[in-house]
Amino acid sequence: MSEVYIFDIAWQEIIDWFLVQPIYAQVLVLIGVFAVLTLAVILVYYILKGVGYLVYYLLKGVYYLLKGLGLLFYKIFEGLYYAISGKPKPIKNAAPEQQAPPQPQIIYQVKQEQEPIVPIQQSEQIVRPEVGFCSECGNKFSDSMLHTLQERGIAYCIHCGNKKTQEYQMSIESQ
Ligand SMILES: [Zn+2]
Repeated sequence: MSEVYIFDIAWQEIIDWFLVQPIYAQVLVLIGVFAVLTLAVILVYYILKGVGYLVYYLLKGVYYLLKGLGLLFYKIFEGLYYAISGKPKPIKNAAPEQQAPPQPQIIYQVKQEQEPIVPIQQSEQIVRPEVGFCSECGNKFSDSMLHTLQERGIAYCIHCGNKKTQEYQMSIESQ
């Protein structure tokens, strides 16, 4: 009679005992074994999960501990440095430095806003010396009329209503 040994358990004896038992006992034993195996699997799952969480929070805890210790050592050495060197802590000085950079940006923005106004003023200055006379009635052109002519390309004489185009403006500039 050959006996099979796995993990030093006499399986053959268990099987022999199992086969001798009545049917209802065999069913109960199978249900019991299945239940035990299911519970064992669930138990192993939660143990592994628990171990996983344990390891995760342990590592997290170690991380924050090291971070805290690092910060603590940094503060201690920083305090020692300022205590030994006699220099004042630049905490109060650091605040205005952080507020300082926005000020040049505001000045720069104001400069940008002022820039478009400059060409208009220049164009008005160019218009003023140009003095033209109407070819129909001979009256002098007003500044607003020359300005309209330069901007739109077309203007009408305020005295006789004669239409003046860009070509007329060119003839004024060439004189
Ligand atoms: Zn005219």
